[in-house]
Amino acid sequence: MPTNVMETWLASSHLSGANSTYIEDLYESYLEDPCSVDANWREVFNELPSVSDLPEERHSVIREQMKHAAKSPKSFVSPQGAVHNDAKQVKVLQLIGAYRNRGHEVANLDPLGLAKTETVKELDPFYHDLSGSDLDANFNVGSFAAGNETMILKDLIASLKRTYCGSLGVEYMHITDTEEKRWIQNRIESSESRPSFSNEAKQRFLEELTAAEGLERYIGSKFPGAKRFSLEGGDSFVPMLKELIRRSGEQGAEAVVIGMAHRGRLNVLVNVLGKKPTDLFNEFAGKHANIDGSSDVKYHQGFSSDFKTPKGNVHLSLAFNPSHLEIINPVVLGSVRARQERLNGIGESVLPITIHGDSAIAGQGVVQETFNMSQARAFKVSGTVRIVINNQVGFTTSNREDTRSTRYCTDIAKMVQAPIFHVNGDDPEAVMHATQIAIDFRNKFKRDVVIDLVCYRRHGHNEADEPSATQPLMYQNIKKHPTPRQIYSKQLESEGVISAEDAKTLVSNYRDALDNGECVVKEWQSMQGNSIDWTPYLKHTWQSPYEAGFQKDRLRELAESISQYPEDQKQHARVAKIYKDRLLMARGEKLCDWGFAENLAYATLLDSKYNIRLVGQDSGRGTFFHRHAVLHEQSEAGRYIPLQNISDEQGHFDVHDSVLSEEAVLAFEYGYSTSAPKGLCIWEAQFGDFANGAQVVFDQFLSSGEQKWGRMCGLTVLLPHGYEGQGPEHSSARLERYLQLCAEHNMQVCVPSTPAQVYHMLRRQVIRSMRRPLIVMSPKSLLRHPMAVSSLDELASGTFMNAIGEVDELDSKAVDRVILCSGKVYYELLDKRRDEKLNNVAIVRIEQLYPFPMDELNSILEEYAHVKDFVWCQEEPQNQGAWYCSQHNFRSVLPEGASLQYAGRAASASTAVGYMSLHVKQQKALVNQALGFDEE
Ligand code: AMP
Repeated sequence: MPTNVMETWLASSHLSGANSTYIEDLYESYLEDPCSVDANWREVFNELPSVSDLPEERHSVIREQMKHAAKSPKSFVSPQGAVHNDAKQVKVLQLIGAYRNRGHEVANLDPLGLAKTETVKELDPFYHDLSGSDLDANFNVGSFAAGNETMILKDLIASLKRTYCGSLGVEYMHITDTEEKRWIQNRIESSESRPSFSNEAKQRFLEELTAAEGLERYIGSKFPGAKRFSLEGGDSFVPMLKELIRRSGEQGAEAVVIGMAHRGRLNVLVNVLGKKPTDLFNEFAGKHANIDGSSDVKYHQGFSSDFKTPKGNVHLSLAFNPSHLEIINPVVLGSVRARQERLNGIGESVLPITIHGDSAIAGQGVVQETFNMSQARAFKVSGTVRIVINNQVGFTTSNREDTRSTRYCTDIAKMVQAPIFHVNGDDPEAVMHATQIAIDFRNKFKRDVVIDLVCYRRHGHNEADEPSATQPLMYQNIKKHPTPRQIYSKQLESEGVISAEDAKTLVSNYRDALDNGECVVKEWQSMQGNSIDWTPYLKHTWQSPYEAGFQKDRLRELAESISQYPEDQKQHARVAKIYKDRLLMARGEKLCDWGFAENLAYATLLDSKYNIRLVGQDSGRGTFFHRHAVLHEQSEAGRYIPLQNISDEQGHFDVHDSVLSEEAVLAFEYGYSTSAPKGLCIWEAQFGDFANGAQVVFDQFLSSGEQKWGRMCGLTVLLPHGYEGQGPEHSSARLERYLQLCAEHNMQVCVPSTPAQVYHMLRRQVIRSMRRPLIVMSPKSLLRHPMAVSSLDELASGTFMNAIGEVDELDSKAVDRVILCSGKVYYELLDKRRDEKLNNVAIVRIEQLYPFPMDELNSILEEYAHVKDFVWCQEEPQNQGAWYCSQHNFRSVLPEGASLQYAGRAASASTAVGYMSLHVKQQKALVNQALGFDEE
C-alpha cells in the first residue's frame, strides 16, 4: 500500500464515469458502517475530508474527487495490494454491475424453456475488454456479497451467474433508495440466490406441492370437464402463499387479506384457507346450502378462517370477486386499510396479498391506479405483496406479443420502484427464497413488492377448453413436462431428504384426506375474535326504528365549534366570509345552508363517536367551494380541520382529496366500508358523470355484493347532478343507471332538496343499523340557492323525509294537477307557480327514488284523491333520469283513473346541450309544460 493512499486514489484515472457510481456506493456503505467496506478502501475513505450526513453532499464530495482523479494519469495500485492494470479492475466492477442490472434477462425462468432468451452483451467479460488471461487473475469485487473481498475472475463470473441467472431473476437496480437497493443486494448475493433450507422445510414444501397437485387431480377425475380453473403448472403458488402467511405471522401480522381471480382459487380455498373438501365437492355436484340472495359460482367465492403460525393465529380473508380481473385489488386494499386502522394503525398488522394474471397486470388500467395509490395519504397500507401467476398465456389464447408492449408483464410496478422477483415455478426453493425476501422487504420498507411466478397452464383456460388448437407447440411440450411435485420429489430423493416411498405416501395420504372430506390444512383454526362483529347490522328492514334526533343545545355548541378556527390563522377572504356566515347560522341569525348542514351532520356523528371517512377528488374544499372541511392557512399554508377539534372523545374524522381515479378509488372505498360497518364512509365524485369510470364497481360490487356474497356495505356515494347549462359532461350523474340497478332493496337512491334533508340523510345512513349503499344525486346550484335553506330546529328535531308534500297552503279541493319531481327543478316549479299565483297545481317531492316511498306518498296524495292529472317533471332527457325506471312506481301511487304525463326534455343521445341559450330555453319549456302553460 503506498504511503499516501489519498494521493494515489485521487490520481487514479479510472475512477470516473460509470465507475464513480461504484465508488460512491462503496463510500455510502462506509459512511453508514466503516466496517462494511474492505480495510484498504476504509483507509482511503478515512483520509477524505469529513462530510455532512446528507447523501447529496456525500456524492458531491466524491464527484469532486473524481474530477481530480481524471486529471492525473498515474497508474492504479489496487487497494488489495495486487497490482493490476487499473482499467481491468474497473471493468470487473462494471461486469458485476451488468449482472445486477441485466442478469435477470438470461435467468432460467421459463419451466418449459420456450421463452426466447436474447444474448446480453454486457454479461460477456470480453465485452468489457477482459481477456481470457484475466479469468485467472484476482480482482477486488467491491460490494458483491457472495464471495470474498477479492475473487478470481472466473469464480466471480460463476458466482454472478448462480446469483443472478439461475431460477431467480431479480429486478431492483431501478430503485433509487440506496438502503433498499443494498438490502436486496445483500439478501440475494450473500446466498447466491440459493439459501439452504432445513430438511424439515423441504419436506413441508413437497407436502404443500403434493396438496396443490393432488386437489386438482382429484377434482379432475371426480368431475371431469367441470370448470375449475386449475392451478396445475403454477403449483408452487400454494407453498408460496402459505409461506407468506407463516412469515408475516411471525413478523406480527394479525390478518392477511387476499384478492385473486379464478385461476387456482379452489386450490387456495381448500389447501390454504381450509375450506372443507366436502363443501367444495358438494358445490361441484350442484348441491348448495340454503342461502339468502342469489349467490355466485364457486370460483368467485370468498372464505374466512384463522391460520396458526409460530407467533399466533393470523386471520385469513379471501375476498369474493367477480370475473373482472384486477378490480378486486383496490377492494382488498380498502379492506386492509380499514382493518389496520381498527387494529393499531397503518403498518404490519394486516397484510394485503394481491394475485394477478400476467396479461391482466399489464393490460388493466386499474393496476396502474392501485400502484399510484400505494403511498398516497388516503390509501397507503404499508405495502402490498403482489404475486403474478404468470402462465405465459393471455386470458384464453393470447401470446405475449399480443398482450403487452413490455418485456415483462410486471414492468408497471417500476412506477413505484417496487422490487420484482421473477422466479421459475418449477424450482420451489427459489420460489421460497423470493417469497421470504419479498415479505421481509414489504415489512421493512413498507412498500409494494412483486413476485412473478413464471409457470405454465397444464390445461386450457378452463377444463372444457382445448389449448392445443391455439398453442400447439407449447402444449406438446406441456404434455411431456413433469409436474413441479414430480421434479421436486426427485430432487429431494437425490439429496437423500426423502425416499421414493415417502413421496408416494404423501400422495396417498393427501388423497385419503380428500376422501375423508375434512379440512386438509394443518394450520387451520376456527375463526376467533379478530374479525369485525357484524351481528348488530344483520336482519334489519328499512322500517327498523332508529333515533334520528340530536340534542339541540349540543347541536348549537357543535355548530359554534365547527364554525371557528384559531384566531392567529389567516384564511382566504372568501373562506373567512363563509365561516363568518356559518357562525351566524350557528347562532340562529341566519338559516343554514347546504355546506353548513352537511358539516353539522358530520359533527353530530363524530360527537357520538362514529368515525367518518370522506374521500373524493376535491373533498376537503368541495368541488363547488361549499364544504371547506379543511382550512388552508394563508401565510404558512398549514391545514386546520375544525371537525377534528370538536372534543377529546370524538370519532376520527378523515377527509382526503383522492388520487385522480374513479375506478380504483371507489373500489377501495367499497372495500373499506365492507370492513368498517360502524362509521360513515363517503366517496364523492368530482362531477357525477365521472362515476362512469367506475361502472364496474357499481355493477359488480355495490349493487349486488350483498345478494351474491352476503357482504354488506354502507358506503355513501355523492354524485353532483343538476342541469345548470354546463353542457353534456357536467350536468347529469346518470341517475337512470343507478335506478336501473335497483332491485331486492339492494341500495338507496336519494335526491335530497334541502340542507335539513342532507343532514338527516347522512345521519340516518349511520345511525340506522341497515348497511346498504346510498347513492346521492347531490346538488350544485342548490348549494347557494336562497330558497334551499333550513333552520337549526329542523336539524335538531326532524328526520329524513323520503317524500315531501306541498309546502304552500293550497286548498287541496282546488288542486286539479299534481306535479311529482325530484331535485332542483322543484325550486323552479315553485318559483314560477308562486309568481303566477297558481293555486290549482300542487308540487310533491320524491326525495328517495329507491326504495320507493310508497307509504309516505300514499298518505301525501290522500288529499288529492280527486285529481286525475298527474305530471312527472324532470330536467333530464326523456330516455334518462327517473322517467323510464321509476314510472311504474309513480303510477302505483296515483288515484284510480288518474293519468301520468311526462314533462321534461325530449329524448336525447347526449345528456345535455352545449349552448347555454338552448339550455335555458329547454328548462323554461319543461317548467311551463309541467305547470300547464304554453311551453314557450
Ligand atoms: P372477514 O374478516 O372478511 O374474514 O370476515 C369474517 C366474517 O365476518 C365473515 O365470515 C362474515 O360472517 C362477516 N363479515 C365480514 N364482512 C362482512 C360484511 N361486509 N357484511 C356482512 N358480514 C361480514
